[in-house]
Amino acid sequence: MKIKDLFGQKKVTISCEIFPPKKDTAFSGIFETVDAIQSLGVDFISVTYGAGGSTSKKTVEVASYIQERHHLPALAHLTCCDSTKEDIRQRLADMKEREIENILALRGDKPKEYVPGPYTYAIDLIRDIKSQGDFCIGGACYPDGHVECEHKEDDIAFLKEKVEAGCDFLTTQMFFDNNVYYNFLYRVLAVGIQVPVIPGIMPVINARQVKRSAELSGTSLPPRFKAIADKFSDDPLAMEQAGIAYATEQIIDLVANGVKYIHLYTMNRPQTAAKIMENLSHILR
Ligand code: FAD
Repeated sequence: MKIKDLFGQKKVTISCEIFPPKKDTAFSGIFETVDAIQSLGVDFISVTYGAGGSTSKKTVEVASYIQERHHLPALAHLTCCDSTKEDIRQRLADMKEREIENILALRGDKPKEYVPGPYTYAIDLIRDIKSQGDFCIGGACYPDGHVECEHKEDDIAFLKEKVEAGCDFLTTQMFFDNNVYYNFLYRVLAVGIQVPVIPGIMPVINARQVKRSAELSGTSLPPRFKAIADKFSDDPLAMEQAGIAYATEQIIDLVANGVKYIHLYTMNRPQTAAKIMENLSHILR
């Protein structure tokens, strides 16, 4: 099923993200993770794509398991900045063969030794996906602005071009202040972007890791978040509890303000997703 057709079917569409482990030895555990996440009643599961295509086959394999075993739509991520046209043609053919209909089309982070190839931006990939099959296509967006783009207006203008090239929906980078998301929605609507913009919520379990990736990705950290992280980051259980409570509050505020889709960056931690879903059981019903 195409993800764009899920929107509006329920009060709130919920999705979770997982990543295929890099090591083959850890691979079988991912299927248990999928089983546990799907049992929470989520509407789709997205599967990341390792930098440089390091987990490309695994992404398709896990996405295929989600669909075949659980009859749940999977969203397979795909990056392009270090791919050839033939690589992408092959990946799309694999997806078609496995009946994967939903792709999150990404540029990817440029590797240290970046050699420019046929794909400069995600829009180039989106155009190729469009021309090679009937896929439902998602794109990434950045409420705090993408780290490489100096001016937010330019970032939004490029985002508009990307959506017009064929995005059916957008998923945001993590954010920890809902006002950043609401302001972003005003700005995208002002330029005429009308596709769903799914807020990506990251429950903070490891505060140091999240602070580091927030710095790298240019995600702003509000004082309330910093106070919680500073207070609890040395106590993993307290941090987990605080992180789940913080994410829950963010989601309640989003739903109360009419947002109809939530993407959870619970990664390969179904227990975290379960606690959040439990906190929201009446709210999502
Ligand atoms: P683009 O949309 O191409 O944008 C990249 C930059 O180029 C932006 O600064 C944009 O403003 C600028 N730009 C766009 N078009 C133009 C133009 N015409 N001229 C000049 N500048 C332009 N990475 C992975 O490796 N694997 C994953 O599975 C993965 N999943 C992700 C999921 C989500 C929801 C998000 C938000 C990110 C994910 N990423 C993933 C990270 C992503 O690959 C990086 O953030 C990457 O740096 C940008 O990818 P993009 O698709 O947003 O790029």
